Amino acid sequence: MGWLIGIGIVVLVSWLVWASTDIGSGVYLTAYCAHAEGREVSLTFDDGPDPEQTPRVLEVLRRHGVQATFFLVGERAEAYPDLVRQIVAEGHAIGGHSYRHGALFPLLSVRRMTEEITRTRAVLEQLTGQAVRLFRPPFGVTNPMVGRAVKACEVQVVGWSIRSLDTLSCWSRERVCRRIEKRLHPGAVILLHDRMAEADVLLEQLLTTLHRRGYGVRKIG
Ligand SMILES: [Zn+2]
Repeated sequence: MGWLIGIGIVVLVSWLVWASTDIGSGVYLTAYCAHAEGREVSLTFDDGPDPEQTPRVLEVLRRHGVQATFFLVGERAEAYPDLVRQIVAEGHAIGGHSYRHGALFPLLSVRRMTEEITRTRAVLEQLTGQAVRLFRPPFGVTNPMVGRAVKACEVQVVGWSIRSLDTLSCWSRERVCRRIEKRLHPGAVILLHDRMAEADVLLEQLLTTLHRRGYGVRKIG
């Protein structure tokens, strides 16, 4: 009997971990994680704007005539308002990614989360004069509090279907590229970070791969 309870606990814990760490699980909220049709993928960049890297990423996107979606951190948007305006002026879409991107965001109360989401949205809307409806929770972690905050703010959550792991400092750019290429599929939404050093070089490499594999790029938002 004891072993049966043990297995039950392992299954339950595994389910809870999956439900909160897989943004596409759909347990606490519905996130847009892939397109239903078309040999196209979407590029999404989190954690910016970054004064060093974002302009370089924008330059590569411009050169390739490709548009992406940037999930911006509220306090960084306030610190680098011109970059936010440049992102939008160059035809890219933006969404919120919390105000502080604190490590404990997933543990905040619904009220604090709601504050972070609405404050970031207000900053972005004031800077761009556009309505901002997209949101991506920090770390892609979802739980009942995130679910309720998202509902209260009436934002549309965007997830991903390919996590590049480009933030792992121990991973080479080649390894990140290989990981993305191995997982490429029509309709993929790819998670990248424009705060990382050489994000522009990775993007250049990725766009070459997409072109070689016959994929187009579609902007979300
Ligand atoms: Zn993030």
